[in-house]
Amino acid sequence: MIIDSHCHLDALLSPPPLSFSTSLNDRVHVKHSVYFITMSTSPLDWRNQLERSQTFENVFCALGVHPWYVQDIDLTYLVQLERLFMTELVVALGEVGLDFTPLYKESRTLQLEILVEQLALARRFEKPVSLHVRKAHNEMLEILSNTAVKGAVHGLGASKELAQSYVDLGFKIGVNGVLKRDNARRYHELVRYFGLDYLVLETDFPHVKIAPSEVSFLSDIVLVAEKVASILNTSVENVLEKMTLNTQEAFNLSGVLNGK
Ligand SMILES: [Zn+2]
Repeated sequence: MIIDSHCHLDALLSPPPLSFSTSLNDRVHVKHSVYFITMSTSPLDWRNQLERSQTFENVFCALGVHPWYVQDIDLTYLVQLERLFMTELVVALGEVGLDFTPLYKESRTLQLEILVEQLALARRFEKPVSLHVRKAHNEMLEILSNTAVKGAVHGLGASKELAQSYVDLGFKIGVNGVLKRDNARRYHELVRYFGLDYLVLETDFPHVKIAPSEVSFLSDIVLVAEKVASILNTSVENVLEKMTLNTQEAFNLSGVLNGK
């Protein structure tokens, strides 16, 4: 089994694939069923994401307000989110977080406020969280140390020390196609340091492309797993098995996987 812990399926025009194959050698291929956790970014796409998770048996949805869109929401967003957490199968809060890069840091105060509100809700409903963090790690770590939530920090290309701080708070580290870039040395080092215990796989489809391709594919997750396997000198099967367990644990999926 493969689980994509962070993707945006609203960008997908066809039904999501049900399986991917990996090759043991030229002649033997292993088929893996594949599941997706699709992220939302604003209340405008919550319904759409929910419908996808209801339509496709291998799709789970996460609802939340992404830091880039905090200025677009109205005051009712939290009540709406609460109602959906209460009435629908939503596996996580996501994608939420803090982004203090130049383009977004103007909304810093609002981002902090919206994040804290959403995390409080996640804690109340015991929902894991998929986090987006850019140039705001101190603030994020402080908030997380005061709010008992768990989940994954998606696409974290940070130092080992920083990543360790998230791991110490109960978070997993999401690795995606960025790992395939030759210049992603810090990312490679992160994988080497954490080994298979604290990592989860993701594509962040359609936002991460693996060169030379100019588009993103959901099947890129296999390439990411292969890269992790080569860095750690182990088999792809081993990587998939361990990372699937990590993702199930981070997102409390064991129960819902059986029910789907
Ligand atoms: Zn994303």
